[in-house]
Amino acid sequence: MPDHPKEACGVFGADDFRGNLIFPYIYWGLRSQNHRGHQSHGFITFNGKFNTHRSLDLVPEITQGNIRDWLRKLPGQVGIGNVRYTTSGGTDEESLITGMQPSLSEAEKTSIAISFNGNVVNSLKLRREIEKKLGKFPYACDVELICKNLLMKLIESNDLSLAVKDCMNEVDGAFSVTGMTQDGKLFAFRDPFGIRPLCCGYDKDRNVYAFSSESVGLDINNLEYDSEIRPGELVFATKDGFLREQVVPCKRRALCAFEFAYFARPDSKLGNKYVYEVREEFGRNLGREYSEITKNADMILSIPETGNDAAYGLHEETGLRWERATRRHRYVTRRAFILLPRERYRTIDRKINILDDQLSGKTVIVTEDSVVRGDTTKTIIQKLRAKGAKKVHVFVTFPRIIGPCFYGVDMATYGELIGSKHNPDEIAKLINADTVNFQSLEGLVRATELKKEELCLGCVIGKYPTPLAQRIADEMREKFENGFKETGRLYEISSNQIVSTH
Ligand code: SF4
Repeated sequence: MPDHPKEACGVFGADDFRGNLIFPYIYWGLRSQNHRGHQSHGFITFNGKFNTHRSLDLVPEITQGNIRDWLRKLPGQVGIGNVRYTTSGGTDEESLITGMQPSLSEAEKTSIAISFNGNVVNSLKLRREIEKKLGKFPYACDVELICKNLLMKLIESNDLSLAVKDCMNEVDGAFSVTGMTQDGKLFAFRDPFGIRPLCCGYDKDRNVYAFSSESVGLDINNLEYDSEIRPGELVFATKDGFLREQVVPCKRRALCAFEFAYFARPDSKLGNKYVYEVREEFGRNLGREYSEITKNADMILSIPETGNDAAYGLHEETGLRWERATRRHRYVTRRAFILLPRERYRTIDRKINILDDQLSGKTVIVTEDSVVRGDTTKTIIQKLRAKGAKKVHVFVTFPRIIGPCFYGVDMATYGELIGSKHNPDEIAKLINADTVNFQSLEGLVRATELKKEELCLGCVIGKYPTPLAQRIADEMREKFENGFKETGRLYEISSNQIVSTH
């Protein structure tokens, strides 16, 4: 697992009711959301039949030379797309290829295509039930469980609302989905807690309607933001607008709080605010909460760049100089997640250049978005000290992470989380910081302008919105404290044992 957690996926779907080719919208929708998943990407369009392209790695550059090939390969006025980082299934190349999205399922003259962001907690049980009816299927991503579950219900009832309703009642986990029926109708739905984001919008003439994980997918396509898909809601895109149906009651909204601190792009809208506004407020909060430290500090540094907005807020609150004493080596682009631990240190080292003249003898505050294992922060502190920093205080915009995530964020076990075993003073010793100062829970909630009950805070407070996740978390915690060795990513309770699903 990389030091900073990875998101599961980003989804995008659109329909141009004038009949124009939809591919460019989906392409840009995915390009703008590649931060949500960069292991694979994929498209499915519909022009009387489904057309599919899926591949590993980032969404590629399309050039003047090959755009015609893409349009030929993916015709149709409606389509869906996905960028993926795996949080279910294996991480070997074969599993990554099998797990690429979007998914297309067909049986008994019925078919459905979906793109999914989230994670299914009761995956073993669901898989067994589906296999009883549809037979064995290759499984390397939870999208298959949602897609095949819908297919199974559609074969029974031929009614998508009913199929989605059953899905919402049967699946424990997080799922934000956009998909297409076999006659090319575009739809989207979101789990009854609305854990992962999903929004919709249209062009100014109301010809193009789209669904996107984040609002940046709409912005890049010059589409206007309409609204979030509500938890428990199914929405169809029609030429007369969005057709909305609350298929199950919203149990309680529980939007992932970590989206605000780390995952979502700063220029995306979540709830009523842009993410960068929330992050600036995180910085102001930290300034207020830890004024004893800031009053004796010389400067603020933001490493990595996701700490920039918080650094700005902290600078505003305290008047401290936000020093640009670190610079990125712009073309060193290897991503840390594909590297072995030893290589990872070297790559961080190569990516960031620290200007020692600025740091010598100084007391420095470093803004971080999160501390998961602590490896990256430790490396950065080593570099700062080597360049002469006298004191290094770490300000972390997200509260201490004490438990795993079951909803599509790559933090699967207690053992890998430095915050599950250590308090802030111990963490500071372990990563060689003078102090480590986390955002308070109250500060986090206040900055989002949502109520505490409207956020998922499972990994911070140990209370998870869905019942099975809570049961597994409690059991895992107990076993972890008793020295049980955790392995794998996803866990289920089976015959009083916690077992890995891969
Ligand atoms: S457990 Fe944490 S990371 Fe997972 S959805 Fe909840 S807040 Fe987000």
